Amino acid sequence: MSPETGRDCAAPLVEARGLTKHYPVSTGFFSREKLVVRALEDVALDIRAGETLGVVGESGCGKSTLGRCLLRLIEPTAGEVRFDGRDVLALPAAELRRMRRAMQIIFQDPYASLNPRMRVGAIVAEGIEVHGLARGVEKRRRVEELLHQVGLGPEHADRYPHEFSGGQRQRIGIARALAVGPRFIVADEPVSALDLSIQAQVLNLLMDLQEQMGLAYLFISHDLRVVEHISHRVAVMYLGRIVERAPRALLYANPRHPYTRALLAAVPVADPRHRPKRTPLQGDVPSPLQPPSGCAFHPRCPYVEPRCRTEVPALIAGAGGHAVACHVFPAPTE
Ligand code: SF4
Repeated sequence: MSPETGRDCAAPLVEARGLTKHYPVSTGFFSREKLVVRALEDVALDIRAGETLGVVGESGCGKSTLGRCLLRLIEPTAGEVRFDGRDVLALPAAELRRMRRAMQIIFQDPYASLNPRMRVGAIVAEGIEVHGLARGVEKRRRVEELLHQVGLGPEHADRYPHEFSGGQRQRIGIARALAVGPRFIVADEPVSALDLSIQAQVLNLLMDLQEQMGLAYLFISHDLRVVEHISHRVAVMYLGRIVERAPRALLYANPRHPYTRALLAAVPVADPRHRPKRTPLQGDVPSPLQPPSGCAFHPRCPYVEPRCRTEVPALIAGAGGHAVACHVFPAPTE
């Protein structure tokens, strides 16, 4: 039982049900026709404290929209988001602002997300000031502590973002997110702009911080190897829907959905003799403006059957927490 909230500690910290985001778009200045971009369709997930749920998929599959809807940085069209048992979408503005302390985001591009005219100390201190968490000497001490936590020194507080490397800038972004004492962080492609060796450092830092602070992460990436390194469970998204979700080891050892298998087949391997015999992905992701009927993956799927063209497959859970949305390859039952 949590002493703060009186909730069961094993209960999910973050829960989403039926989460949907549609964007109406106009087809032309004089046109009355309205189309809808289906960025997110009926997504359900939960994340526990101290857990990382990795989300993978090609660009445009709705990963970032999902992260932003969970934090209510964009308003979902339908569905429910709960944080620590509270209905995030029903919170009035003042309470949402207070809750935002506990729910932070780390962005992909560490340079674009840091104000180039502000010193690093001021960037990290911004959230502390906005939420009235510390002032004066105490604030300065807290900033130095945060910089230390992410592997930077107190001398870095007086420098500007352009004086840092990409990896250091991402560390500053992480310190800024930690400044307000979050419990849940959406990490949106946080290492994809970094060199391989720096990626490992930042991933290990995120994992260390999770261990120390019990943070829950939604870790978004298009890179399956990065997601495998950091995640406890993995959700694969295609055209706004989760098509497969499983504990990491199960998903990588026994991928079921043809899309997951194709993604894994495309991952480079050091020794070509160990490349799995799977059909790589053909064609592009269809437009979310006019998604294919039935299973949205059917125009690219080598196993397509007639009902795949008409019936949307539901995400059905099988053994070991493995869930798959496919008519032909359901989740294993034992
Ligand atoms: Fe392929 Fe049919 Fe499964 Fe969709 S439902 S992934 S088209 S086999």
